[in-house]
Amino acid sequence: MNAPFFPQLEIPHTIAAGPGPGNTAERVLNAFTSPGVADHMQPDVLRGMIECKKMLREIFGTQNVHTFGIAGTGWSGLDAMFSVIHPGDKVVMFVNGTFSGIDELSVRMKAATEEELKANPLNPQAASVVTIPVPHGQSVTAEIVDEALAEHKPKWAAMAHWETGSGRINDVKGFSDACEKHGAMGLIDAVSSLGIAELRIDDYPGIVGWASCPQKGMMALPLTYAPVSFSDRYIAELRKVGSRSFVHNPIMEARHWAIIDGQDVEKGTYHRTHSPYAVASFHEALRMVLEQGLLQRAERYRKAEKALRAALTSMGCSVTSNMTSLIVLDLPEKLKGKEKDFVNACRAESFGIWPTLSEPTQVRVGILNLISEAELTTIVQRFGEMLNRFEVEADVEAAVAELKRQLS
Ligand SMILES: *Cc1c(COP(=O)(O)O)cnc(C)c1O
Repeated sequence: MNAPFFPQLEIPHTIAAGPGPGNTAERVLNAFTSPGVADHMQPDVLRGMIECKKMLREIFGTQNVHTFGIAGTGWSGLDAMFSVIHPGDKVVMFVNGTFSGIDELSVRMKAATEEELKANPLNPQAASVVTIPVPHGQSVTAEIVDEALAEHKPKWAAMAHWETGSGRINDVKGFSDACEKHGAMGLIDAVSSLGIAELRIDDYPGIVGWASCPQKGMMALPLTYAPVSFSDRYIAELRKVGSRSFVHNPIMEARHWAIIDGQDVEKGTYHRTHSPYAVASFHEALRMVLEQGLLQRAERYRKAEKALRAALTSMGCSVTSNMTSLIVLDLPEKLKGKEKDFVNACRAESFGIWPTLSEPTQVRVGILNLISEAELTTIVQRFGEMLNRFEVEADVEAAVAELKRQLS
């Protein structure tokens, strides 16, 4: 059977106003399409990777030598981070939404014994993993972590810093303190927070591993590099217990970034075929983040979120999130049960907002790389006009005025 001859694929521009990927800057796209054709051992490609590594240390706020990018998406970075977990390891997982839920599944797959995995390969019930569920819309607090670690005394504990499913910020300081106090090694999913939160990971000595993603706070293209950072303690443990992954073994992946035997060396060695396009665009995105300044970015997001929140609230929505890059809200009462229809109607017109992916169904509006007054105004107008079309009497002009008042 012959495959039909398909026309060239064209994908339209949309407003990426969801939880991620963020709106990609022209600069980053240009960097992806403009490098020359080169192999993965060409000197400028290797130099670019070394510069990325140095910029990532600044962005993470760390002296960790093992700070680099895992080729792929956020889950690739998380898979590398969790590759240190072995069958039977005692782990406490804090779950307050979709993504920490998937982290928990991922950890159960690694901590399951052979029998447990065989019994249920896609959803193993690993007896050594303790899950602490926190209701959707609520944060993981210092007290919750302290209590669970005191009771279970695990080897590892893991949590999402910013849970993108419910839009909640979890207490990373409380988490780190409890890990130190109870002798656990902390692992953090920082996919949503890195590059937006005011964060210096070296302030949290209870946490030994951090994993993020390319396309949220970093503003890079998806499927380039997931930033990760591992402390010396993590790496020492990995050396001791090993990892069954070649590609996602942090010690091996680090070699191409010129980190060998715990040291920065002059030149990376082959691990797998890196792409000059990915390296160049990732490099440009990191340059942009640092050019804007980490504290300044955090402040601009805080301000933008506050203004957008006020504008959407003025049209009858109620916000349940506290992240600064994403608003998770309930639509006006009248639209209860119609959340997905509302989101689909917006998406059909290239206004890319999202529903929540796990229950309860809410609406998510993100502002990654969409924080100028003009961009926020467009979001408020498009959202308000759709409310009107769903027969909600929202005053769009007043909402825009409220946005501008908050921003000025
Ligand atoms: C987006 C997200 C992920 C998954 O990242 P991908 O790039 O889609 O693989 C994991 N954790 C959190 C908290 C996220 O927000």
